[in-house]
Amino acid sequence: MKNFKPRSITLYASIVLALVVGIISFLFNKNLWSALVVGISTLVLSYFIFLYIIEQFIYRRIKLIYKSIHSLKLGKEFKDALGERVSTDPLGEVEKEVADWSVDKKDELEDLKKLEKFRREFLANLSHEFKTPLFSIQGYLHTLLDGALEDKNVNRKFLDKSASSVERLVNLVADLEEISKLEKGEIKINYEEFDVNKLTHDVMNELEDKAHKNGIHFHIKKGTDKPWIVSADKEKIRQVVTNLIDNSIKYGKANGETVVGFYDMDENILIEVTDTGIGINEEHLPRLFERFYRVDKSRSRDAGGTGLGLAIVKHIIEAHHQVIHVRSTANVGSTFGFTLKKFEAHS
Ligand code: ADP
Repeated sequence: MKNFKPRSITLYASIVLALVVGIISFLFNKNLWSALVVGISTLVLSYFIFLYIIEQFIYRRIKLIYKSIHSLKLGKEFKDALGERVSTDPLGEVEKEVADWSVDKKDELEDLKKLEKFRREFLANLSHEFKTPLFSIQGYLHTLLDGALEDKNVNRKFLDKSASSVERLVNLVADLEEISKLEKGEIKINYEEFDVNKLTHDVMNELEDKAHKNGIHFHIKKGTDKPWIVSADKEKIRQVVTNLIDNSIKYGKANGETVVGFYDMDENILIEVTDTGIGINEEHLPRLFERFYRVDKSRSRDAGGTGLGLAIVKHIIEAHHQVIHVRSTANVGSTFGFTLKKFEAHS
């Protein structure tokens, strides 16, 4: 029955009916010729009646379903579907279209479920991130109001702690604003040519004190300390380099080092930031660039991290149509690498 068309179905049904009617007529009249006439008349009549019924009530509807599914797949409106070309084998095509469609819908549904889970997690993370510093500010303020304000031993300390929680909230809001602009595609990439090695030296100078306090030494990989001219958004790349070097300090070990190396990759330049810090277990690597993903939550928070740094870095690099990757071994160290377009004088 699989590939039957309406006309053949009608013909077979009419033949069966004509045979039955012909045999009954023969049994009643015992006249072969009259039975033959009755049978043929039934065949012709029932063929047209069946064809009409099938066309009118079944096939037209199936055709409509087929056209609708086909057009929905092409992203058209239902009403446009009515005026479309129809296949000569709508039954077979409906079967195929519905099968394809259900696979598409299943994938779509799975993506939507993932997005929904992501959204729920994001909201939970967000409220948690705000809650911690807010509760700590609330606690210190109440203690101060309840009398600690007059206690010279703690009043300044409590105010300092409140101020650092406010700072954390401000950083969090700034990072959230940045990430939302990047995700909405509102941030324009202003390409210019600049020396990314010089920019790295500037960032290292800025972070020198913090590194010194944590016992970390900076240097540029041997043989690569020369101008590397790229075409990119300088301020955004400064943010990327700052974030990666800052992480190498936050997650570094005393007497450790952070090395930045530059590598020629034909059209691009690869920049790698390597540290000898605490490293990251392999199981965390695939999720490291997600918003709020942290390996060690308390270490990140103690270091003033918002958990959004790497998500922002990834957005910035992808907005440049470049890539970022990470290699890491727990207790040995990590390497974060990203590419930038090399500036060619003729480009
Ligand atoms: P955070 O504000 O927590 O530093 P990031 O997005 O910059 O957020 O980093 C996400 C997580 O990745 C960090 O919490 C930390 O667990 C891990 N991480 C980032 N950089 C390093 C590194 N150089 N060494 C070890 N772990 C790192």
